Amino acid sequence: MAGIYIHIPFCKQACYYCNFHFSTLLIYKESVVKAIAKELFLRKDELKGQKIETVYWGGGTPSLLSDKEMDLLMAAIYDNYNLSELKEFTIEANPDDLNNDFLNYLKHAPINRLSMGIQSFEEAHLKLMNRAHTAEEAIKCVKKAQDIGIEKISIDLIYGIPGMDLTTWENNLQKAILLDITHISSYCLTIEPKTVFGNRTEKKQLIMPEEGETSEQFDALIYRTEAAGFEHYEVSNFAKNKEYAIHNTNYWNGVPYLGIGPAAHSYFPGIRMWNIANNQQYVKALDQNELPLEKEILSTNNQFNEYLMTGLRTQWGIDLQVIEAKFGLAFVDSVMSNLSPYLKNEQAIHNNNIITLSKKGKFFADGIASAAFIVD
Ligand code: SF4
Repeated sequence: MAGIYIHIPFCKQACYYCNFHFSTLLIYKESVVKAIAKELFLRKDELKGQKIETVYWGGGTPSLLSDKEMDLLMAAIYDNYNLSELKEFTIEANPDDLNNDFLNYLKHAPINRLSMGIQSFEEAHLKLMNRAHTAEEAIKCVKKAQDIGIEKISIDLIYGIPGMDLTTWENNLQKAILLDITHISSYCLTIEPKTVFGNRTEKKQLIMPEEGETSEQFDALIYRTEAAGFEHYEVSNFAKNKEYAIHNTNYWNGVPYLGIGPAAHSYFPGIRMWNIANNQQYVKALDQNELPLEKEILSTNNQFNEYLMTGLRTQWGIDLQVIEAKFGLAFVDSVMSNLSPYLKNEQAIHNNNIITLSKKGKFFADGIASAAFIVD
């Protein structure tokens, strides 16, 4: 089994916190989409003999695609890959793009999962972050998607927004829970260099909340979602009725995936590849039938570190028997010794060869995992 990720590198406007690869020059959208279709064709042999379990259109903003552009990509996927056992086909969408044309397309497409970039239900937060949608659209978009029968709906929410207090965050969570959806992804706002927020923070024009406040908001997130029947299956992901995001869960479990489009990453056991993060150069290379990608052979240490980083973020944790079988006994000794402070202070739990993070450890998941990394 394998997955296909397609990166649509266009957005209406730049959110002030975002450092993903995207452009607001929509005039190039058609040529990039044609190049993506060509890349899908040129790389079909990389998944030869494999059945595709998941397809994910992310970005950027895939909901900016026209019907014609989506048709072109659909054809390139269905003509070149084996989708006989497809379980999940996700498209990311922004609330302001859910117009009748887009919804009609979804109704007849094989897409069965919608990931909505809501981020907040508060007008002030949306304006502060320069999101393109309004608070009203944030609520209405989910209802519209439910009305046309989209099976699985996930929404993204951000906490740790400057000026957001605990009560406002809890109101946001309450609004999300009332939407009757089965999946929530929630991330703490991080400040990235070369973004508007990065510049404002440097100039002290934007004051980020203290760690104590964001950790309190994270606790509220866990408490509120659990009380509403969601399972906290990954640090940033919550699912009802075991409706885990299959595509992402496969990433964490090391299932191979092909990443298509500018800046997209691919993973095959022991190998990582990434496409050039420049739309014009991407199109130029594909015009000449060239693949604008770089490749890295992952060292044993790198693979081990990735296993720790992804595993410790999930409720399934890391398995010492898997570590011994894949990497050797020395790696088990190393992980036990490096994680012992976290086992002692109860941020990590060791049970039947499995190490998971406790509720109080999850907020620090990335730091705990990196404390057990082995550097080349
Ligand atoms: S819509 Fe998404 S990808 Fe585009 S700028 Fe905003 S956060 Fe980034």
